[in-house]
Amino acid sequence: MPKSLAHRFRVDDGAKFRLKDWDPADEAGLAKDEAQALLGGLGERMAELQDQLYAQDRWSVLLVFQAMDAAGKDGAIRHVLSGLNPQGCQVHSFKAPSDEELDHDFLWRCATRLPERGRIGVFNRSHYEEVLVVRVHPAILEDQKLPPALVTQSIWTERLEDIAAFERHLARNGTAILKFFLHVSRDEQKQRFLERLDEPEKNWKFSARDIVERGHWAAYHAAYEDAIRATAAPHAPWFVVPADKKWVTRCVVAAAIVERLQELGLAYPKVDARAKAELEAARAKLMSES
Ligand code: ATP
Ligand code: MG
Repeated sequence: MPKSLAHRFRVDDGAKFRLKDWDPADEAGLAKDEAQALLGGLGERMAELQDQLYAQDRWSVLLVFQAMDAAGKDGAIRHVLSGLNPQGCQVHSFKAPSDEELDHDFLWRCATRLPERGRIGVFNRSHYEEVLVVRVHPAILEDQKLPPALVTQSIWTERLEDIAAFERHLARNGTAILKFFLHVSRDEQKQRFLERLDEPEKNWKFSARDIVERGHWAAYHAAYEDAIRATAAPHAPWFVVPADKKWVTRCVVAAAIVERLQELGLAYPKVDARAKAELEAARAKLMSES
């Protein structure tokens, strides 16, 4: 693997972050024909590390995926994580909140879906929707049943502070957090929407709502920029992943996950003398069976 393929897409200090500095068509120095083999190798390494993560049962890993429509979240999740043991993996897709969810604070529903120790949890959309779609559409905020006195000009800054604090809390308790913004260009999104309209087997993916959201492109990008600026941290970095070429997206996401897992010091638990004696006793018992 090219040394630290993911590193140049990592943002862990948002102070100077500007989305316009990032190119959605960046190929990350990868050749397309190498990418498949690279992804295969990263997948195998990820599976080994996941096995140790599960056996060690100390860390949990939270992977957050955010993007504009048709940026390839679903495909990235499917391809990158396809080699993992499903028992150690939990994927949750966040849609518009239910009545029960709206009866709680905005982080509640995400808190209930966090991965257990030893597991990898994937958020397909996440708590970030609360400072993205909700920010772009004030009517959604109005339906959130907040006491009016609390809905002030500072609400987005406050939410971003609360998200950053929530993630710091999780990190301090043993959750390794990686956040992926799949950065697709407006032109590429148009092409992918047209494919969804043109190809019958892709029609089901198309939603008229997607065109409405596309109309708010600049507002979404401003909201993403603010969110990344406010919440990028060494313990919860963002990866601004080029998404115009799907093979690039998948390799960068896989590399970021493998690199982070490798930093965790994962290892199979050591068996102490007493447990070893129990293993030997079990062996003796099995061997004595006629
Ligand atoms: P696909 O790419 O397959 O269309 P998707 O993630 O867009 O997948 P959809 O079911 O099309 O899934 O859309 C989910 C919708 O739920 C999105 O429009 C998203 O903005 C919205 N949503 C998610 N969280 C919230 C939230 N907290 N408040 C309001 N809307 C939300
Ligand atoms: Mg959608």
